[in-house]
Amino acid sequence: MATEITEEKTFCANHPERETSLRCNKCGKYICVKCARRTAIGYRCPECVNQQQQIFETATWSDHLIAAVIAAVLTFLGGLIVPRLSWFVIFLAPMAGGIIAEVIFRVLKKRRGKYLPWAAAGGVVLSGAVLCLIYGVALLLSLLDPEGGWSFRELITLGWTVGYIALCASTLYYRLRGIRIG
Ligand SMILES: [Zn+2]
Ligand SMILES: [Zn+2]
Repeated sequence: MATEITEEKTFCANHPERETSLRCNKCGKYICVKCARRTAIGYRCPECVNQQQQIFETATWSDHLIAAVIAAVLTFLGGLIVPRLSWFVIFLAPMAGGIIAEVIFRVLKKRRGKYLPWAAAGGVVLSGAVLCLIYGVALLLSLLDPEGGWSFRELITLGWTVGYIALCASTLYYRLRGIRIG
């Protein structure tokens, strides 16, 4: 078969007034310099690039809710014990974050989403707010109790709760992001 040489002018599929000879290497349509998206595998049209990105967005809105609930419940359960163990928090909080990430990963069957790490970290923070409220009330009650001498311990627990939440949320966030990329 002979190769056809055409003198016909070609124009961008999105901008009919712009002449171009550049084509998307996936769908083959003509794209002008402005429309062309440079990817690792060559120039592509914006539509093909969007399609490619959607493949990585497999999580539904309910998956985000599930991730947030799992994170909140597990953080709460851990939060009843971990902050009382004082400096063990430094080791246990990232461990808790890792475990929660693993649970979410398995429950969602590796589905991914751009906002999934945020939803999960949000669940941790929400749970942390409840925990702080509980320990805060305990601290307040101990201060009001004239017989009490435990306020210092309650204050420390409250402090470690904040540390636990911060470490747990950040570990969870980065683990889920890592999973998304990997
Ligand atoms: Zn294309
Ligand atoms: Zn164009």
